[in-house]
Amino acid sequence: MKLTFLGAGDMFAIDQGHNSVLIEFNESNLVIDFPETNFRALRALGKDLTDVRNVFITHLHEDHVNGLQLLGNYARVYSKNKPNLFVHSSLFDQLWQTLKAGIEPSGVGPKELSDYFNVHIVEDQFEIEGVSFKPIRTHHLPGMISHGLFCTPYFYFSSDCALDKELLLNYGGRVKTIFHECHLQEDVLKSHTSLEEILELPQELRSKVVLMHYEDTYTNPENRRALEERTGLNIAGPLSVYEF
Ligand SMILES: [Zn+2]
Ligand SMILES: [Zn+2]
Repeated sequence: MKLTFLGAGDMFAIDQGHNSVLIEFNESNLVIDFPETNFRALRALGKDLTDVRNVFITHLHEDHVNGLQLLGNYARVYSKNKPNLFVHSSLFDQLWQTLKAGIEPSGVGPKELSDYFNVHIVEDQFEIEGVSFKPIRTHHLPGMISHGLFCTPYFYFSSDCALDKELLLNYGGRVKTIFHECHLQEDVLKSHTSLEEILELPQELRSKVVLMHYEDTYTNPENRRALEERTGLNIAGPLSVYEF
């Protein structure tokens, strides 16, 4: 299994793509979230949007879903195969409301999400090519549905969330790597995880953490290296690769 960061930037990132990963395994792949910046990152990897087989959506902030309309339309025009779209049951209606205005109208009558994607409504877990993925409800913003994703024994991917220390203490030992979002700025946001909170985790968890979803300052590899030396933590960069 190979996991590549298509982008590790936050919502306001310009110097690199928004936070999203491409996971390649067996004969398939899965992209977690789909910002429009993924198109350029896939091109940099020598891949095309039509190579994307499966997508899982963690939540509906624009930096995580604003490439879905492009992906669906592109597949309809350039590919015979629709991508699979894995959506948690609690998120499906809101996702459709988010995309509807752009993809429902067509020259041959109203279209549905299933005209663009093979839609899979997820409850507790889903499976692709024998690999199991388990969404876990997280706390991002009040009233917002958000999920992290476990792929045991390989990784946990937090997506955007406040730190759930109990979750990491209970289940972090079951995975090799914890890809965790971190707001690397001075101000502390309740909707995101601060560096201080990550640094307060026990060493056995800290050593597994790879930070992601951060502001442009750390797109610069020198700044990432300085922070890694200062904190002992790892930080994902644009197109960083992790093998499992
Ligand atoms: Zn975000
Ligand atoms: Zn968010």
